[in-house]
Amino acid sequence: MNISTDDILKNLTEDQLSAVTHLDGPMLVVAGAGSGKTRVVTRRIAYLISQRIWPSQILAMTFTNRAAREMQERIGRLVGEVPRNVGTFHSCCARFLRQYIEVLGDGRTKDYIIFDTDDQKALLKQCLNDHPVTAGLSPGIIAELISRAKSACLTPQEIMTKEAWDNAEAILEVCQAYENRLRAQNAVDFDDLLLLVARLLRERPAIREIIHNHFRYLLVDEYQDTNHLQYELLKLLVNPATNNIHATGDPDQCIYSWRGADYSNIMNFEKDFPNAVIIRLEKNFRSSEHILNAASSLISNNLNRIDKTLIPAAPTENPQKVRLVTVGSDRDEGLWIARRIRTLYLNGNPYRTMAVFYRTNRQSRALEEALVRAGIPYQIIGGLRFYARREIKDLLAFLRLKVNPADRISLERVAAYRGGVGPKTLAAIEQCAREHGMESFTLLCQPDFAQRWKKKGAKVLDFANWCRQLNDLPCTPVGHAVAAVHDFADFTHHAYDREGPPEARLENLQEMITNAILYEREHEEAGLNEFLQDIALVADVDAHDPDRDTVVLMTLHCAKGLEFPYVFIAGVEEDYLPHANTVADPDQIEEERRLFFVGITRGREEVALLNARARASWDGGWERQPSRFIRELPMEDIVRTNFNLNNPTMPRRQTFRRW
Ligand code: ATP
Ligand code: MG
Repeated sequence: MNISTDDILKNLTEDQLSAVTHLDGPMLVVAGAGSGKTRVVTRRIAYLISQRIWPSQILAMTFTNRAAREMQERIGRLVGEVPRNVGTFHSCCARFLRQYIEVLGDGRTKDYIIFDTDDQKALLKQCLNDHPVTAGLSPGIIAELISRAKSACLTPQEIMTKEAWDNAEAILEVCQAYENRLRAQNAVDFDDLLLLVARLLRERPAIREIIHNHFRYLLVDEYQDTNHLQYELLKLLVNPATNNIHATGDPDQCIYSWRGADYSNIMNFEKDFPNAVIIRLEKNFRSSEHILNAASSLISNNLNRIDKTLIPAAPTENPQKVRLVTVGSDRDEGLWIARRIRTLYLNGNPYRTMAVFYRTNRQSRALEEALVRAGIPYQIIGGLRFYARREIKDLLAFLRLKVNPADRISLERVAAYRGGVGPKTLAAIEQCAREHGMESFTLLCQPDFAQRWKKKGAKVLDFANWCRQLNDLPCTPVGHAVAAVHDFADFTHHAYDREGPPEARLENLQEMITNAILYEREHEEAGLNEFLQDIALVADVDAHDPDRDTVVLMTLHCAKGLEFPYVFIAGVEEDYLPHANTVADPDQIEEERRLFFVGITRGREEVALLNARARASWDGGWERQPSRFIRELPMEDIVRTNFNLNNPTMPRRQTFRRW
């Protein structure tokens, strides 16, 4: 394809242009929301390709699969080719590991499996059970500790010493057992994907050199949300001879410090990469002036920031003030939003131009009910993930076991699905497998299992026979493999066996097979292991299909990087925004304010903020106070409305108290 540089360089401001056409050396684009940072990243990649840089020599990383996909599509439109190495931190690292993990020499192979948070907790539960002192601890707490340690490039011990944990020694043993078992099962967790690549780059100069020669240009969007591990990884990935790194970010939008993100990484960029070109983009191309004024005024209350104002690139025609809607209850909140959506739709705006944000997932239920009642199509991002559904996890366990016989967690799941063999028998099989120097599943699949097992038990022999048949099913092509396992294990029959209506389960299973067939078409050479690794990396926000004409509902955290003409933010109340868990800590309040700021700056034309006077809440309370952040919004850019239907959900108790 003939690449047109005119297309690549059109509709850019002078500052954007100088960032896009920058060639060698470090560069930081630091700018406010909606100023074209992501546009600069995509255009610069296209520009580099137009300057005869091979697409495979460019590595671009961002935080969500959705943002990565959007970037790929935009670049594809400009240069006719989608560069392979544009992805999330995790997907790019998963690809490196597929190539190099064996160099680590810890027994893991390229067919490694990625454990998601559920698998991780199941494994930790086993480790905790083996340590009676820690039996009362929840796997979630340990998972969080391990993840925090890995993202900060520390050991769990270092974290615990700082925080004075009880039973630290026993917990440490649990953490160690967890790592050993992961390794033994040829598995990694999400943080390992990055950690192991960083280790490879640090400890193996030969690999570092290959990578440095291979990737000539490194680009990172949303740099403000990098944690210490990502920061270390980036420093290792950059070739020090050229320092070709291009980072973009906005410190006001750092909303992941609870996961270890550290926006001082942006502040230190010049120190880390001396002679960096710093480009600031001053104008906002997204939102109308009232929205920008409201957002600027809000964020100016954060003490810990560098002052900058958001200026609209051009005056908007008939700009709408930010609506501040006080409603009687959560029911009224849903009703008001549904009515407004309906009006906007009837005025010719497709549903996909509208988004509803909230602080916590549990707020979605009431909103969802209101939309269902009003007959408005919607998608929820980040509810129960498709791949976290029970029937899908079951099916995946079968597939994982075929690829990786060391996956003990999947063997347990498969055994529980089929029935007949319980945890005790599985432990005995494991013992026997160890004596034969093989994995349990491999042992079960041996034609001479009966002789090796020696003990009696028709059920075990039957199970082994069944495992052998499972193992003999084809692994490629991927679509065929998934369908074969589905039929072999009789998932249709099982869908009817479980409680509740089977339709949704059958649909999900069908969706999974279709998904595998599509994958097979798009990735002709890929095997089942690549398919499973890709699935494990799918984040919540991927569920969003921008081509379907629906309203989207999501948490404020998921909304990062996106934009919508019409934005509704529900629950702008104390204990929701800021969240109840954060009110004691001024730093966390600043982060909540940044989160609110991210929400408001997603809106192009109209933003509505809702607060309810009463709401059924997890703390049993009903009366709600408006968020402290509302007082920080400028009166002249706000229009206030009250909406209070005679609400049937108001509890009697409340009425009595008033009288
Ligand atoms: P965020 O901080 O929210 O991630 P951002 O800085 O990455 O925002 P973009 O998403 O790149 O901003 O751009 C915001 C909007 O402005 C997009 O719709 C984009 O197409 C548009 N835009 C950016 N630059 C220009 C320009 N020079 N001319 C016209 N529109 C532009
Ligand atoms: Mg962006």
